[in-house]
Amino acid sequence: MSSRPPGMPLVAANWKMNPTNIDDALDLVRGILSVARGHADRVEVSIFPPFPWLLAVSEVLVESGVKLGAQDCFWEMSGAYTGEVSPAMLKDLCQWVIVGHSERRLYLGETDDMVAKKTAAGLSCGLGVIMCVGELADHYDAGTSDQVVSAQVKAGLASCSADDSARLVIAYEPVWAIGTGKSADPEHAYKTMRLIRRIVGEMIGAGAARKVRILYGGSVNAANVQSYVELPYCDGCLVGGASLDAAEFAHIVKVTAEVYGHR
Ligand code: PEP
Repeated sequence: MSSRPPGMPLVAANWKMNPTNIDDALDLVRGILSVARGHADRVEVSIFPPFPWLLAVSEVLVESGVKLGAQDCFWEMSGAYTGEVSPAMLKDLCQWVIVGHSERRLYLGETDDMVAKKTAAGLSCGLGVIMCVGELADHYDAGTSDQVVSAQVKAGLASCSADDSARLVIAYEPVWAIGTGKSADPEHAYKTMRLIRRIVGEMIGAGAARKVRILYGGSVNAANVQSYVELPYCDGCLVGGASLDAAEFAHIVKVTAEVYGHR
């Protein structure tokens, strides 16, 4: 099986719970756009603002080629679920949704079963889904990263099929590398992303699995991005903290475009 999927690399900007006001959010998206639109033919860029900024950010992104996504969704489409946002509500505004981010698993108790239901719900509405997986520091230290990540991938994709492959992305984000400045050793990232590709192949078939993109996430910045996006099984990156600085994020997009342009 070739390690390269047919799609473009994806660079995703997860703003998390930032910025706290709309003016800063609009400044940030305009700054990112000024550079990202120049690479739209080689890199798919998607921005994931907090829910309250989605509509205003979507207006800035019109006809830019840069995509929009939400940081989470619920698994039901409507009903008595106070505080939740359904994929049906997002589908006309967004192209993407992130599910299973480690901060939600950690602070909100999201389980593999919930992540699987969110993944299926997002896909059923026509959204692209970025499903996050990754081991804790204790797993990494104990040498059990492979078992943990395998179990998360298998559980999260439980109801996925080959038909979902082009809209499915798996972000490998070692939890100990998120927001810590301790990015993973590229060799470790490479081996884990290769494992993920193999498991996806076993689940939905090797041909379909080639279309599923795999991202690295965890303290990616302008200085280290090349060491990840040049890895054979890596189809881009999920960027948190560094996506709040337009110039830094733009550099990440530019490096990704250059690396993939040379492949
Ligand atoms: C993330 O939020 O998914 C992430 C990888 O964050 P950071 O880049 O800040 O580590």
